[in-house]
This record gives sequence, structure tokens and C-alpha cells, in this order.
Amino acid sequence: MSQQPERVRRVLVALGGNAMSAPDGSATEQDQITALRAAGGHLADLIGEGVDVVITHGNGPQVGNLLLKNEFSVSVAAPVSLAWCGAQTQATIGFTLMNALGDAFTERGFTRPVVSLVTRTRVAADDPAFGNPVKPIGRYRAKDEAQQFIDLGQQWRDFGEKGWRRVVASPQPLEVLEAPTAKALADGGNVVIAAGGGGIPVVQSDEGLVGVDAVIDKDLAAAVLGPALGADTLIIATDVEAAILHYGTPQARSLGHVSVAEIRDFEAQGHFAAGSMGPKVAAARTFVESGGRAAIITKLDLLAEAARRPIGEVGTVITQTGAMAAAAPQNSQPTA
Ligand code: ADP
Ligand code: MG
Repeated sequence: MSQQPERVRRVLVALGGNAMSAPDGSATEQDQITALRAAGGHLADLIGEGVDVVITHGNGPQVGNLLLKNEFSVSVAAPVSLAWCGAQTQATIGFTLMNALGDAFTERGFTRPVVSLVTRTRVAADDPAFGNPVKPIGRYRAKDEAQQFIDLGQQWRDFGEKGWRRVVASPQPLEVLEAPTAKALADGGNVVIAAGGGGIPVVQSDEGLVGVDAVIDKDLAAAVLGPALGADTLIIATDVEAAILHYGTPQARSLGHVSVAEIRDFEAQGHFAAGSMGPKVAAARTFVESGGRAAIITKLDLLAEAARRPIGEVGTVITQTGAMAAAAPQNSQPTA
């Protein structure tokens, strides 16, 4: 009926850490090439079906690597900002994914231009997150090691037995500055990679736009980027088939097709952990609230299936009205 989906025309895919690192989370150059080759295959399946695909991605392990280098070389070369780390990882991940996609297209017998954009995301200079940095990044270190970075102006926090770890602000993304460019490139038939790592965080200052030491959640940035691209669908590709209610308890159950109102209730009940599933669910809901047709949270391998199959059959799906309006009461059993 009217609830039945039109075809997915333009999808923004947000790739999680497992698409860019080995299963154990390590992110050597070869680990990243291998993981992105697999992701590239799934993306190429979708692109080969005529869907416009824009790709965004995380960068946690990659920035972690750069921070380590910063720290080990602190006595000979001044550490660079998180904004610079973000810019560097957009380039290395973009490059690796461009190669992976090109090869995957060739294997499937077609060709499409791929472009990767260095992308900035504007955040508010007075975002409350700057006054209360809570996002831990990089390695744990002993207190005396941490002190040399604290002396450089960084904030580090005592995590007890594990040691000290740097904490940074994770402000709300307001605007992806290169979104109009990304849209024009997608309209022109390019596969676009944009806003990697959530975009390089910038704030408006007296000197113009400047990078800031912060990290932006890539899923929340995707929720801002998607509507600006005219994407009808957002797919958040991670390492679980669906969001789970009562996660980690005997009552755990996969969540299928739900409405914006229903997901709000589940969020309020605290089903989705902060820093992992929480921002994914919030991003998926925000995308639909901003006019997107559907947002899907599922496993990377199910990417093409999720776009191909009727809404609600794969993963956790959020639409404005959910499954109820499709005259299928209790129809929320997912594939998982
Ligand atoms: P990515 O690296 O793909 O962005 P994350 O590791 O940040 O993914 O988030 C996915 C993880 O969230 C899952 O592997 C799982 O461990 C965790 N998680 C926390 N709460 C839930 C939940 N309610 N349902 C499913 N997964 C959850
Ligand atoms: Mg992860």
C-alpha cells in the first residue's frame, strides 16, 4: 500500500569502524586496505543497481594512530591539532576507499567516478560540550606521561586502574560546509565520499573559520549531511544486524521497523548505550525528523540487502509512521 517504499534513490551510507579496521580493531595500512575492500564490494553492489550513493565514515582508530605518533615524537615535533588529524584521515581513508571502489566496479563490469572531499563541519563555539569534554581518545597512560600533554594545554582524566586518558569535546554538528558541493557532485553522477570522521570541526571566530580540538560523532554528522544532499535513505552500517532492546540482558530482542515516536520512547527508556548505539539511533531519528524517508541501522554485509528489500525486513528501520500504518500490527520482528 502507500506505505510500501518507493525505490531507494539516493542513500547516504555511514561506515563504522569495522569497515576500516581489522576485526580486533587494529588499523595498520594493510588492515584498512583489507577492510575497505570488503566495504567497497558491498557499496559497489548497491551502486551497480543504480542507487546514488554518498559515503561517510568514522576515523577513531586512524586518529588514534596519529595521536600515538604525536605523543611519541613530542620532543622533536610539536603535536598537531585534532582538526589536522581529522583532515589527514579523510585523505587516507578517502584514497583507500577510492581504490577499493574502483576495483570493485571493474570486477562487476561497470565504471563510475569516485571523489573524496575534504569536508568541514561547523560547530558552535559556545557548545556546552567544550566546557565539559567527555569523549576519551587515544591510549591510556601513566599520570606522569599524561602530565607533559596537560602542560601543552590538553585535558586528561584519571580513569583509575587503567590510567589516564585524553578527553575532548564532542560538540553537536550544525552544518556540513561542503554539503552543497557534495550534492552537486552526486547530482553529476559521482560517487561521493564526504564528512569523514564527522567532518573537520570548525568554529566561526574573529579570524574566520578555524579548526578546533574536538571530535564530531560521524553518525550525528550524517544526520545533518543526509538532508542537505537530498538523500531519501540513511544507512548506518555497523557490526550488529539491528539495534537491540534490553541489550546484554536475557530479555534482549532486536528492534525492527519503528516510528519516530516509538524510537523516542525507547531512547528515553535508555536502551541504547551512549557513545555507541545511542548516537546511531539519535542520528537515524534526526534524519527522518528532517524529512528523510527512512533510516536503517544494520550490519555492513547487509547494506545492499537493506536497500533492496522492503522497508522493515532488514535491520532496525525508522520511518515517520513506523510499521503500524502498514496495517501489520506487531510486525516488528527483524531478520536478526
Ligand atoms: P561503529 O564503530 O560501527 O560506529 P560502535 O562500536 O560505535 O559502531 O557501535 C556498535 C556497537 O554498539 C555494537 O557492536 C554493540 O556492542 C554496541 N551497543 C550498545 N548498545 C546497543 C544496543 N542497544 N543494541 C545493539 N548494539 C549496542
Ligand atoms: Mg566500532
